[in-house]
Amino acid sequence: MSEQELKRKIVAVGKKAFEYRLLSGTWGNISARLGKDRMLITPSGFEKTALRPSDMLLMDLQGNILRGKWRPSSEVPMHSLIYKTREDVSAVIHTHSYYATALAVAGQEIPVLTSEFASAVGHKVPVTRYITSGTWEFAEEVIRTLGDGKAVLVRNHGVVVVGDSLEDAFQTALLVEDEARTFVLASSLGYAMPLDVNEVKRLREAYIRGYGQEKRRLTLKL
Ligand SMILES: [Zn+2]
Repeated sequence: MSEQELKRKIVAVGKKAFEYRLLSGTWGNISARLGKDRMLITPSGFEKTALRPSDMLLMDLQGNILRGKWRPSSEVPMHSLIYKTREDVSAVIHTHSYYATALAVAGQEIPVLTSEFASAVGHKVPVTRYITSGTWEFAEEVIRTLGDGKAVLVRNHGVVVVGDSLEDAFQTALLVEDEARTFVLASSLGYAMPLDVNEVKRLREAYIRGYGQEKRRLTLKL
């Protein structure tokens, strides 16, 4: 995919994230891998609905700016370390969506509760230890806790999701917030029963087998 097309899609993700109430103010950051060892990332301090494709920064994975007129997101270490560590990842989205952030503050991982979450994400969402964000130590803690998963709660902060495309990562961001909300609501009714681990495995494997078809059904258009 071309640099221009990826920039356009990052802008679209920023707008959709506002529409779906995953982001507010200038919080959050979005990036996409370009080729093997470069990334496009949102600038620091912009409300995401105000972004234009030309505002994106092109960076290498050592943290050097190759092209761009603004200061990059403070979370460059985390984004670049994820791309360096996970070759399967082509997009990273960090939000402070309400329910997921509430659980991150409570130090409560999100269990797999619904069949859709089991299929499209396939694992519970763990919580990192608390570390000051924007540091390399923070980036390493996010990677360590994320493992080979698609989402992680960042203690007393928010959520990080990854995907093989911006569409895939955005879909996961939505699903994580939905699952977090379901967990909070069901818990308030008395008990949120997690799905059986073998059933989660079955649903996830069936989803991956039917990947092309399922993905078209689930993925939002950017
Ligand atoms: Zn943040």
